[in-house]
Amino acid sequence: MQTFDFDLFVIGGGSGGVRAARMSAQRGARVGLAEFAAMGGTCVNVGCIPKKLYSYAAHYADSFEESHGFGWVGKAPVFDWDLLKANRAREISRLNGIYVQLLESAGVKIINGWARLLDAHTVEVDGQKFTAKNILVATGGTATVPDVPGREHVVTSDHMFDLSPFPRRLLVVGGGYIACEFASIFNGLGSQVTQVHRRDKLLTGFDDDVRRFVAAEMSKTGVQLKLGAEIAAIHKTGEGLQVELMGGGERIEVDTVLYATGRIPNASGVGLEAAGVAVNAAGAIQVDRHYQTSVPSIYALGDVTARIQLTPVALGEAMVVVDQLFGPAAGKKPRNMSYEFVPTAVFTHPNIGTVGYSEADAREKFGKVTVFRADFKALKHTLSGSTERTLMKLLVEDATDRVVGLHMVGPDAGEIVQGFAVAMKAGATKAIFDSTIGIHPTVAEEFVTMREPVSAST
Ligand code: NDP
Repeated sequence: MQTFDFDLFVIGGGSGGVRAARMSAQRGARVGLAEFAAMGGTCVNVGCIPKKLYSYAAHYADSFEESHGFGWVGKAPVFDWDLLKANRAREISRLNGIYVQLLESAGVKIINGWARLLDAHTVEVDGQKFTAKNILVATGGTATVPDVPGREHVVTSDHMFDLSPFPRRLLVVGGGYIACEFASIFNGLGSQVTQVHRRDKLLTGFDDDVRRFVAAEMSKTGVQLKLGAEIAAIHKTGEGLQVELMGGGERIEVDTVLYATGRIPNASGVGLEAAGVAVNAAGAIQVDRHYQTSVPSIYALGDVTARIQLTPVALGEAMVVVDQLFGPAAGKKPRNMSYEFVPTAVFTHPNIGTVGYSEADAREKFGKVTVFRADFKALKHTLSGSTERTLMKLLVEDATDRVVGLHMVGPDAGEIVQGFAVAMKAGATKAIFDSTIGIHPTVAEEFVTMREPVSAST
């Protein structure tokens, strides 16, 4: 029988790779993991975590402002960008260390360097060869910038956390998660933000009411939205950058241009061809429902497979792979991954939280659907002076009374929607929502007190 150096070799120390390596080692497997950069991948280093820290920072601007209505008098403190950057960097390196420690204490051998596949069972890391019974490719994704004249002057989300100096004027291109989040965050931190998006609404794929509502709220906070607009070129000037829009030739002077126009799988330079691993037209590794690639000993998960690009999804996928390769945890069944009712949040100001179907998708899938919607000023803002409004929306399948879509734009939407996602996974009906007692006075109680549909079911 062939012997291998490892039972599992993981390429990539991001969310999915680390989870798979750690859990496999805890089940007794001999595991190696290669990572060429800081441990933790996009999420820890240049994604979810630092982004959320900066989002908290940006919210303080509103909090100081709003505190006056609650009796707090005096001048607001001054924002120190360099201090925030330093504190974030310290926290991220603490997390990098924790990831390494978790892996090592589980018995995972960490190999620092760039790994590539040589064949179905062999990986090379900087000239050193390792064999493994199974290999997991979890190399993540990278921001992509279209071929626009002047693209060499722009930055991607990777660079936003350490900009120097702080951009007084920022132009963001794109209308997805990253564009909307950074537009909100830098607006909150004090930049003058212009967001340019090629469509007439932000956040393609989200519920249309959410898309309209969040655009209106972001505009109220000061983000200059230019919808249905495209970039012709970016020019460097003595003062900064000049962004030229298509048609009409409008020019906008800024300090920094952020392109947030999507992310592509990190599938090149990994030796996929050498090993015979198939990729699809978009360059993502093709996997079956067990995350097995076209080469049976090689698995792939997370952003490199470009399904749903979310950390918790990669973590869920990792657990399916671990159960598949090394068996489930004692007393547990092997896990499956469902891509239905995946909750998500967009950390715009105000936040978006959503789970299940948009109204358009629900009508297409379920036919007759009843819509419940509330749009109101939260209690806090009766004294805060803020004009912010909150949107909450439920979609109910008529045939079953099941709640199939739940959407919110408002403070802490992600925190609120997480709990409702459990109910919806469990198949909660509108009748169950109605029989649930609200917690008063909260914003969240609105989800269990919506009685009148806004339109007849179609
Ligand atoms: P998205 O796919 O969400 O958005 C990309 C945006 O760029 C879209 O608005 C798209 O427009 C636009 N776009 C694409 N190509 C071009 C082009 N050539 N010119 C102009 N505009 C263009 O990608 P992001 O980069 O924002 O984020 C990547 C993924 O990361 C997200 O999909 C999400 O899964 C994940 N993420 C999750 C977060 C969270 O959970 N809070 C936070 C950040 C990222 P159009 O609508 O027309 O396609």
